[in-house]
Amino acid sequence: MSVLLLNASYEPLSIISYRRAIGLLLRERVEAATMESEVLHAGQQALYVPVVLRLRRYVHVPRRGARWSRAGVLRRDAYRCIYCGIQAGETRAGHTLHRADFSVDHLIPRSRGGKNGWGNTACACYACNQRKGDRTPHEAGMTLLWEPKTPRVDYLVLYGEVPEAWKVYLRTNVH
Ligand SMILES: [Zn+2]
Repeated sequence: MSVLLLNASYEPLSIISYRRAIGLLLRERVEAATMESEVLHAGQQALYVPVVLRLRRYVHVPRRGARWSRAGVLRRDAYRCIYCGIQAGETRAGHTLHRADFSVDHLIPRSRGGKNGWGNTACACYACNQRKGDRTPHEAGMTLLWEPKTPRVDYLVLYGEVPEAWKVYLRTNVH
């Protein structure tokens, strides 16, 4: 378990360790953003560390965004195909699709100069990926169900169970 750190604007910034959270609390850089806390025992003392902290002063974070990766794209899109909308766990023609049936599609194919990047990649099911082939969606007559964007939060740190108290801040980013 760890602590979700928010900017003064309530935007999620990062996930930090309890040690770092305590450091920030002691230096009065942060305040609790939730009533929910974890109790840590340090010798005789019990420390209550809120599971969501908010910086007292806004820090400007350059919009570098999360680092692109194939796993990150699949996670961002929650294993839902950008062309037909089917999601892992759903059934088509009697066949249940698994995560392995999805891959990362380059909207502008790499063979045509398309880059690895959040805006040029999306999750696609096997069938749609096959159908699209080495074409742009426009050439293939396929429509995007949403516009691929750079995620606001680094999804890759959010594996596994996410504390209930974080979800309101992460919104659609976590399932
Ligand atoms: Zn599809």
